[in-house]
Amino acid sequence: MSGRTLWDSRLGAAATLVIAPVAVLLFVLTLPVTGPLLAWSEWRADKRKRAAVVDWPCGRCGEVLGLAALTRADAVFGAHVRTAFAGKGMLRLRVVRDLDACCLACDAGHRWDRAASAFVLLSVDEFERTYATALGEVRA
Ligand SMILES: [Zn+2]
Repeated sequence: MSGRTLWDSRLGAAATLVIAPVAVLLFVLTLPVTGPLLAWSEWRADKRKRAAVVDWPCGRCGEVLGLAALTRADAVFGAHVRTAFAGKGMLRLRVVRDLDACCLACDAGHRWDRAASAFVLLSVDEFERTYATALGEVRA
């Protein structure tokens, strides 16, 4: 191996100059079609999640999660984000949401697995460690 990649060569630079604007142009031109399709896809996924949570048993205690578990998860995650960003100033953070439902009976966190259309119990220890402050805020 010479250690050179395609992107180190003139061809790579030319490809970048041509491909990047074409990719941006294609993205902009297809946006009127892909935008509504993505929105429709999100709407359907959310509808499927709401239909499933109504009678989904908690992975920890077995109680039915119900729609209130989604609301509670929103509150817990909102409190978690506020805590994470508090006092950080200009520091940039990336927060990935892994909490979709929070059991009202035992505080267990569940993630919605979109591909399997199923709620997956989050690791109890890790969930309680990560969201301890937020859970305390929501309970109060
Ligand atoms: Zn539970």
